[in-house]
Amino acid sequence: MSANAGADSDADAEDIPNPGQRDLLAELRSAEAGYSGIPVDAICCGCKWVRVKRVTPEEAGLHPQVDPSQLDPGDVGSFKHVCHRCQTVTWWNATSVLTGLLTAEQGRGE
Ligand SMILES: [Zn+2]
Repeated sequence: MSANAGADSDADAEDIPNPGQRDLLAELRSAEAGYSGIPVDAICCGCKWVRVKRVTPEEAGLHPQVDPSQLDPGDVGSFKHVCHRCQTVTWWNATSVLTGLLTAEQGRGE
């Protein structure tokens, strides 16, 4: 139909901050991120791997109805999650709260 705009790019997520070459949305959607909770960028205390994880308010010791957009990484702090490198459940430190991923994800489902 129309001209081919952007042949090789997967550019539907361009408003998401993407440090380095990571695909944060893909990480969020992978099973290892978890199935529910607030998306955060976190670092494994065991192997220093950085991955997107979903952390529930309960896991982070927060109010169940907390507004993710009001959270700082320090509010989330440390939480336990599985690390596929360590192959165990271990501690992760949140380094940023990825509310942009939450809205990107919710904006798609319709
Ligand atoms: Zn690890």
